[in-house]
Amino acid sequence: MKKGLLLCVCQGTCPSFQGMNIFEILNTIRAEGLVDFVAIHPQLCADDGDIFLSSLVDDGANIEKLYIAGCDPKMQQKMFRDAFEKAGFDKTRHFGVDIRNMNTEQAIEVIKKLIQNS
Ligand code: SF4
Repeated sequence: MKKGLLLCVCQGTCPSFQGMNIFEILNTIRAEGLVDFVAIHPQLCADDGDIFLSSLVDDGANIEKLYIAGCDPKMQQKMFRDAFEKAGFDKTRHFGVDIRNMNTEQAIEVIKKLIQNS
């Protein structure tokens, strides 16, 4: 069973994500071996984001935990519910964390905490 981390960044144009280096965040988490895979998606709440999510967590994907750093976790739960249901993915395996308006170090810290505590 694998653990993965996705970063979602509101198309990269939202000021909330301008204070951080998204590549450095993902590279730090993967370099420390905290997850099995990482990826960036520009807009998971768009239609193609749904397709991406349901393809990623499809039945055979063997994903134990999917961490998503982006907007508010409660918003994430609502926005991703249909994609997870469509793929037959248990939504309790999704763990969200809000990294808006953080710098690189702050985002890394909250993501690490999420991974260690869930
Ligand atoms: S899922 Fe959240 S972080 Fe991603 S584009 Fe939508 S509102 Fe922005």
